Amino acid sequence: MKKALICGISGQDGAYLAKLLLSKGYIVCGTSRDAQVSSFRNLARLGIRDQVKLESMVLTDFRSVLQVLRKIQPDEVYNLAGQSSVGLSFEQPVETLESIATGTLNLLEAIRFLEAPIRFYNAGSSECFGDTGNEAADENTPFSPRSPYAVAKATAFWQVANYREAYHLFACSGILFNHESPLRPERFVTQKIIAAAKRIAAGSQETLVLGNIAVKRDWGWAPEYVEAMYLMLQQEQPEDFVIATGHSYSLEQFIEAAFASVQRNWQNHVVIDKSLYRPTDIQEGRGNPAKAKVRLGWQAQYLMPEIVQMMMSE
Ligand code: NAP
Repeated sequence: MKKALICGISGQDGAYLAKLLLSKGYIVCGTSRDAQVSSFRNLARLGIRDQVKLESMVLTDFRSVLQVLRKIQPDEVYNLAGQSSVGLSFEQPVETLESIATGTLNLLEAIRFLEAPIRFYNAGSSECFGDTGNEAADENTPFSPRSPYAVAKATAFWQVANYREAYHLFACSGILFNHESPLRPERFVTQKIIAAAKRIAAGSQETLVLGNIAVKRDWGWAPEYVEAMYLMLQQEQPEDFVIATGHSYSLEQFIEAAFASVQRNWQNHVVIDKSLYRPTDIQEGRGNPAKAKVRLGWQAQYLMPEIVQMMMSE
């Protein structure tokens, strides 16, 4: 029986990945900064709260990381933890950099120190590419990060690449484009829109206040994106992969789809507040998942319109 350790198991991806690995017969352990306090409501929502072993681990504390790895002795480690909001990273740049870059480095160092044959997955981000414009980004596209979050993710990406090359660790980064689900917190604009559209359909008189809705993103479905993480660690060689649908839509199209699904015209319910614009933003982000299709046999099944329907109907 393989044993997996998921760092950041309380989040959206952590919960779906835990469910996937349990279905494959893994022993699944997961970490939270404070496992005594965390409600792990995503795990409860998926009905797997009692099937995973939970530990406290603070990624920026090397001792804490080392102790958990020693105790659990996992075959695979998935690093999904860290400050994950682009917007919040402009408010908390140091926390963002430390939790992502120092956190990843501590995990790599601990794996190296233990000399254990651990396979390591790191949650990279398409935010590293910056604006992709008309060209879909692939594994050879240079990084051009436009937020403290993206800078931190780019740092972690190169740390992983360096440890793979220098110390021959089985370590890889998945460069994932945005992926959504009903487990997304409302801090993220997609869930903010879905939640407001549902409340308005139920009679709420509220107005939905949003920033730049002209931005375009490549949105995928989180439960199938965690399958790509798992597949990366089953390959013969560790490599990095772009995970995306290959299609981008504007945020305005996302809003229109959400309100149309409850027979509302979004323009009657949304106002734009320029103070919500980010200091720097990505106009368009789109990925080219061709390598993942050929090498992992992975392909996204769901695009934005279906994703909105699935989030609205949950
Ligand atoms: P999430 O729901 O925000 O979960 C991340 C987990 O990290 C949280 O449950 C939290 O666990 C922990 N965390 C939060 N802030 C932290 C901090 N300041 N320091 C240390 N740990 C912190 O994120 P997700 O959507 O599942 O994404 C998983 C990973 O993939 C993240 O690294 C994210 O940046 C990356 N990613 C996500 C997307 C996406 O579209 N979802 C796209 C590309 C990359 P505790 O509170 O229990 O400690």
